Amino acid sequence: MKFIIAILLIIIVFITAWFYAENIKLKKQVTKQQEELDISAKYIKQLNKKIAEDRNLISSSKTNEEKIQALMDTYLEEQNKDVNRDSENVSQYDESRRFIPDIVPIKGDFAISQRFSDTHPGLDFAAATGSEVIAVAAGEILSVYYDEHYGNVIMIDHFNEYATLYAHLATTFFESKSTVEKGETIALVGNTGNSSAPHLHYEIMLDGNNVNPENYIDVKK
Ligand SMILES: [Zn+2]
Repeated sequence: MKFIIAILLIIIVFITAWFYAENIKLKKQVTKQQEELDISAKYIKQLNKKIAEDRNLISSSKTNEEKIQALMDTYLEEQNKDVNRDSENVSQYDESRRFIPDIVPIKGDFAISQRFSDTHPGLDFAAATGSEVIAVAAGEILSVYYDEHYGNVIMIDHFNEYATLYAHLATTFFESKSTVEKGETIALVGNTGNSSAPHLHYEIMLDGNNVNPENYIDVKK
């Protein structure tokens, strides 16, 4: 009989200890969740403050167009700072192909929005405003100009039978007569001229005639 009571007592002690331990664990969990909630509440507060500040900044401009322009200018300025114009990646290209336009003229994500045809002498890359446009081959900037239809344009002469053209640019980084390396950032994607959405219009000319850029690069995706 004594033996049974002793066993019962031991069982009771164990159960009590187990309950106690679980309780502490639960409390710890609750504290941690509370801490996380506090941190995110603080973050949301900061975010709201920043949004309110930005809104004030914007509402100080007058028309909608000016607001959009101001936002765009700030954005492009920031993008501009990030662009490393020293062509650090030039060495990655095959030296014997240095003057051949065989690379994609844009960095980052894009989608082909219009292909080469009888009525469209180039290839359109839809991409975010501010995406980097790169020289597809080494050469000399033939001209930098504004065209009513093409917006801001850069043309490059590649010292051979090839020339390339980049249109609807937001910003251009070079003047005429500058030399550029293959892969070097020359401009940022924009929506200038007769364009309904940000995109790069890209042309390759062989002996003065437009050819299909897709004969030189693989963009079927
Ligand atoms: Zn086009």
